[in-house]
Amino acid sequence: MKDKLVLMIPGPTPVPESVLSALGRHPMGHRSADFSTILARVLEDLKWLHQTANDVLVLTASGTGTMEAGIVNFLSPGDRVLVCCNGKFAERWADMCDAYGLDAERIHGPWGKALDPEAVRRALEADTAKRVKAVIVTHSETSTGVINDLETLSRHIKAHGTALSIVDAVTSLGATSVPMDAWGLDVVASASQKGYMMPPGLGFIAVSPKAWKAYETAKLPKFYLDLGKYRAEAAHHTTPFTPAINLIFGLQVALQMMQEEGLDAIFARHSRHKTAIREAVRALGLSLYAGDDAAASPAVTAVTTQPVAAETLRSHLRKHFDIALAGGQDSLEGKIVRIGHLGFTNDRDILTVISALEASLAALGYNSFAPGAGISAATQNLAT
Ligand SMILES: *Cc1c(COP(=O)(O)O)cnc(C)c1O
Repeated sequence: MKDKLVLMIPGPTPVPESVLSALGRHPMGHRSADFSTILARVLEDLKWLHQTANDVLVLTASGTGTMEAGIVNFLSPGDRVLVCCNGKFAERWADMCDAYGLDAERIHGPWGKALDPEAVRRALEADTAKRVKAVIVTHSETSTGVINDLETLSRHIKAHGTALSIVDAVTSLGATSVPMDAWGLDVVASASQKGYMMPPGLGFIAVSPKAWKAYETAKLPKFYLDLGKYRAEAAHHTTPFTPAINLIFGLQVALQMMQEEGLDAIFARHSRHKTAIREAVRALGLSLYAGDDAAASPAVTAVTTQPVAAETLRSHLRKHFDIALAGGQDSLEGKIVRIGHLGFTNDRDILTVISALEASLAALGYNSFAPGAGISAATQNLAT
């Protein structure tokens, strides 16, 4: 049915009506005082979301462009970096390091499990010559539904002394606490179409004083993504190049909504939804690709659908219930479906997706659960 499709993919995510209305205003000049007033407010609110006193800069870019900024601004050709690799997005960052001629060492961990922080600690302790300039961590690995232990990883990175932490927080920021200052993170990248309740188009990058120091000697080429320019202009509540003005209008409203809800309530909501979905999936006799609850992403849940074919199930949900789920990537294609539950998601959305999942499984001939088992498990966990 037209206009009924609900996105339950891990980005883009649903956008509230009030944000959509704000996007639809006439643009204003980006050098006007009116725009500066809006940007000033947005930049302050972004610091609140990142729990930081550091600069948080806004780019017109997707998450990948923002991570690229996180690499080219702080590193030089040939620099040694460690890349925590336990999923598809992490591999993208390793490939990006290769493209820029960095000496990227991949620390591999099995997909579907959190990366062992000890492996990173050992690699950093072995680096007595202090050649490692950065450790790249994907906090919430969207391809597998795993959250890595960023707090512990950051502790090990800080103990090294030299290396910066460069964090992909694209599906963790706005879904769970990423306290930049308390954890001592150096570079934190995210994007509007994930936890921000916004369409795609804006990237956010927060930068610590230690990273700004590295910026002074970093030699990788940069121009549009030169964060020094963004920092200088942000001090005057403007941007070096024409920003996506209408997206900033929307962002102002979205951040206001987030403040009204409060950080703790936002994180509790994501946590409740994660648990409700996981318990429902178990009650339906399916398995979770990331089986360990402690390593479960607050934003996305990957479900192994065997014996039902993942793509058949996904098409069924889309065709009969107007719900879009994501499929698996790479070797996981056809093996899992991924349910996105970040951003503008409420308890009703969770009950809806679980009901539709139950109905679809039954329609496809998978009946090894008592009718209502998934909904019952979800309801119990939503009520708490
Ligand atoms: C969505 C996502 C990105 C960003 O991808 P873009 O398509 O470039 O916005 C990066 N990392 C993770 C973990 C993501 O989920």
